[in-house]
Amino acid sequence: MTAATTSARQIDAVVVGAGFAGMYGVHRLREKGLSVQGFEAGHSVGGTWYWNRYPGARVDSQAYIYQYWFSDELIQEWDWSERFPAQPETEKYLNHVADKFDIRRFFQFDTRVVAAIWDDSAKRWTVRTDRDEVVSARFLLMCTGGLSAPNTPPFPNHEAFRGQIIHTGRWPKDGIDLAGKKVGVIGTGATGIQVIQTLAPSVGQLTVFQRTANYTIPMRNPKYDDAARAALKAGAKAMERQVNNTFAGFDYDWQDVDLMAMSPEARKRQLDAWYADGSLGFWIGSIQGVLMDESINAVFSDFVKRKIRARVRDPKVAELLVPRDHGFGTRRVPLETRYYEAFNQSNVKLVDVKATPIVSFTEHGIRTSDGDYPLDVLIFATGFDAGSGAIARIDLRGESGQSLKDDWAKNGIHTTMGLQVRGYPNLFMTMGPFSPAAAFCNVPTCVQQQIDWITDCAAHVKASGRQAIQPGAEIERNWIAHHDEVANMTLVPKTNSWYMGSNIAGKERRLLAYAGGAQNYRIACDALKAKQYEGFEIA
Ligand code: NAP
Repeated sequence: MTAATTSARQIDAVVVGAGFAGMYGVHRLREKGLSVQGFEAGHSVGGTWYWNRYPGARVDSQAYIYQYWFSDELIQEWDWSERFPAQPETEKYLNHVADKFDIRRFFQFDTRVVAAIWDDSAKRWTVRTDRDEVVSARFLLMCTGGLSAPNTPPFPNHEAFRGQIIHTGRWPKDGIDLAGKKVGVIGTGATGIQVIQTLAPSVGQLTVFQRTANYTIPMRNPKYDDAARAALKAGAKAMERQVNNTFAGFDYDWQDVDLMAMSPEARKRQLDAWYADGSLGFWIGSIQGVLMDESINAVFSDFVKRKIRARVRDPKVAELLVPRDHGFGTRRVPLETRYYEAFNQSNVKLVDVKATPIVSFTEHGIRTSDGDYPLDVLIFATGFDAGSGAIARIDLRGESGQSLKDDWAKNGIHTTMGLQVRGYPNLFMTMGPFSPAAAFCNVPTCVQQQIDWITDCAAHVKASGRQAIQPGAEIERNWIAHHDEVANMTLVPKTNSWYMGSNIAGKERRLLAYAGGAQNYRIACDALKAKQYEGFEIA
């Protein structure tokens, strides 16, 4: 046992992150009688919904599935205002949960965990924060989020720009007054699209620097009235069962429809019907072939391309907004509201930075190979180092003192079901690489399932008088092989995106999320628990 371990405060578990997963983790560990200390870099709870307060931030899972299931009282008392609530409402919900279940006092806020070292003789993690505090914990739960480590690509002469630069995932709580200003946005993923469609009507000039156009679906976002809310609350138990039994943790799932056998008219009617739902149902509630079969995928791609072209007045601009280099749904599909109409406004300019790349920043804006764009404020909607990023940014040292970051860089990312990593006993993660939660799942569905598994596992180890658990070599090898096999059956690896880790320079190119279905993943996790973690080493 090291000196650091003996002198530090001893607890059962440290939870890193106070988002959906971390809050539930603390709640569940306490219920099971484990002592717990949470750390959160932000000033309050919320995770993604704390950090991402950029203009237009909004969830695109339906509110009635983007919630906790563990308390019927909570479900019955909370009123969602609309189908896809904006960031402040989800943040308020999470604050309400933190207060109602007395979760807040188990977190220390404004505190970043910077390192955690496994002490193999004590079988404990020595966890260090940026306030130089040290805690000794039996279990370490990394609830650090799949999309929380901002990606800020370096541009030549970055520091020359005199205006304000801001990443969407670090938007200031007090906001920024952008009215009438010259604003630039780099990035047209789900975040950039929300920012652009929201700012277009109010800023002076909006310049959008687009590298890759994305497929989108128009969001249908009705307000809920009391009757709608009452119906959703009455159906909540059934809804919980439903989301736990679908491919992506949503209420909709793949349908048994032979789209290719239909007449062109019938096929169009079917696509129109899916599209009209105004949700991600057009994608992951349609047919599985969309992700597996080139010809089916082309049908979806062409359908959405036509929808985009019809909304943009200038045909040249329309062609730039139509995806050219990938198939529908092989990257994350954003929901949008009047996004394309923004490009019909005279104050909005689209710059194709694939054709005319950004050469450098200047004192007054951005220089592309085609000219200068003056800006007062530049918004980076450039995404995140997904899945592994937030975990690897902490100095985690395993059994033989090896760094997880170096290990993943050298040997490739490896996990067992995105829950544990061999060589790092008692380290657990949510939204980790090779779990559905890393990308292919309605996040609350999958992180609640993962937290249930993790906390059951930790409680089992403690109750059985043992000290440490980690995956054996075979189970980890098998899971990775299975993960890769399923990944390569899909069309997703054919394109670049954060799904593939290819948005980050030098990162391994490999599908981050398990593509075998959240329901099948849950069954596999349940089986492991039923077999008392067969294939794991328990010491
Ligand atoms: P993202 O999907 O990774 O998009 C980043 C954008 O920045 C892309 O357009 C990318 O272009 C561009 N970019 C990155 N580096 C660049 C560079 N050096 N030069 C020019 N352009 C560059 O990130 P995101 O939009 O933040 O979304 C991440 C994920 O967060 C989403 O996929 C979704 O899962 C989640 N999200 C959800 C919601 C919601 O629920 N409503 C909202 C926002 C985000 P390339 O495509 O060419 O790389």
